[in-house]
Amino acid sequence: INKHTVVIVGGGAGGQAVAASILQRQPQTDIAIVEPADAHFYQPGWTLVGGGVFEREQTKRKMHDVMPKAAKWYQTAVSEFRPDQQRIVLENGDQLAYQSLVVATGLKLDWEAIPGLKESLGQHGVTSNYRFDLAPYTWKLVQATRKGNAIFTQPPMPIKCAGAPQKAMYLSCDDWRRSGRLNDINVEFCTAGAALFGVKEYVPSLQKYVDDYGIQLRFQHNLIAVDGPNRKATFAVTDNDGNITNVEKSFDMLHVCPPQKAPDVISHSPLADQSGWVDVSPETLQHKHYGNVYAVGDVANAPNAKTAAAVRKQAPVVAENVLSTLAGKPAMAVYEGYGSCPLTVERGKIVLAEFGYGGKLQPTFPAWLVDGTKPSRLAWLLKEKMLPWLYWDVMLKGKEWLAKPKHLSHRPEPQGAPDACNF
Ligand code: FAD
Repeated sequence: INKHTVVIVGGGAGGQAVAASILQRQPQTDIAIVEPADAHFYQPGWTLVGGGVFEREQTKRKMHDVMPKAAKWYQTAVSEFRPDQQRIVLENGDQLAYQSLVVATGLKLDWEAIPGLKESLGQHGVTSNYRFDLAPYTWKLVQATRKGNAIFTQPPMPIKCAGAPQKAMYLSCDDWRRSGRLNDINVEFCTAGAALFGVKEYVPSLQKYVDDYGIQLRFQHNLIAVDGPNRKATFAVTDNDGNITNVEKSFDMLHVCPPQKAPDVISHSPLADQSGWVDVSPETLQHKHYGNVYAVGDVANAPNAKTAAAVRKQAPVVAENVLSTLAGKPAMAVYEGYGSCPLTVERGKIVLAEFGYGGKLQPTFPAWLVDGTKPSRLAWLLKEKMLPWLYWDVMLKGKEWLAKPKHLSHRPEPQGAPDACNF
């Protein structure tokens, strides 16, 4: 059995950022990263691929090139967690032992949950910016659609980047308006939710775009089936009394945001809460029962917006707390729930939603520079030019620019059994 001081499961945004942050603090730390994929993706860029602004290759790098050289990479998936033994099981049956574990597997896009969807994707006008290979098809469809029905869907929460389904819609409408086609296209936003956006301060600006583009809002419309060849989508529609009826709609273009849940390997493990996500303290991101286990990113049950922006603030917190745990000290670094959603309301303008736990606004910039509740050109420049750099060259390099952790003022209750922290 191989043993490592820190084992990180997942080499996406969260896993890489935590590894880099730990190595910035203590370069000699023995870290292993378990990650099956050859490539690492800058997923926030896929909205701009679907909007014809980025080429998809701009969002992809070789996994080998983003892995810290000082970390040992196991190129395989984890198939089982055994936190009582401080071990994980790899797909080939090998086991790894750890002193501290960081879970960073992200979430599962559940394409199979909607009958007919998977086989329709990439043809029949059915697309999704939630997949690297399909985002260019979104842009192709936008350009090809001259008239008819365009439907954009949003499943029940939680999803990663809750604004992404709308972003795809606004950028499409913007292109149709610029090319004089918008009046001939009937655009519908069908969301399983009951509001346009979860934080009310951003709704007036978004609603104005909805009205200007002539978008029909359909709340409590949950996509349940897709018939690609006949271009029909079925929605379960809940009325105000809670009655559900099925409604079929014809489409020429269908942009789907798939239902999302915790990966099976997590929800079937002792690390999961009742909903399947890793059960952590929302402040310290330390597991509620296993004191030497942490989670970062989309897989954690902390009630923040699941975004790479959240990871940027979480990673230094987890890095610092992991090192404290290894040193036998309490986890004191605190994450305040920051998440961000740059809503691309038109090409060249963004409503920059930034908020923490409870929907409390956490703007990075003073309102005179960027008022996040209003469409802003500067925020678009930030998204197009600066955020990719912030991701690749700041966050994934373990630098803490604009992400210095805060600290608890009191000593927390001990979590789990940190004294079990040897092999
Ligand atoms: P990921 O980055 O998804 O990485 C998870 C990794 O775990 C993957 O590499 C995977 O291969 C690996 N893994 C999975 N299972 C296992 C296993 N069993 N064993 C080992 N490894 C495993 N965020 C923003 O901040 N701003 C945006 O504008 C934005 N827009 C978005 C638009 C779209 C279309 C999408 C899809 C996402 C967007 N996001 C945005 C969200 C952001 O990309 C995610 O929140 C972020 O990538 C989460 O990081 P993560 O490390 O939790 O998961």
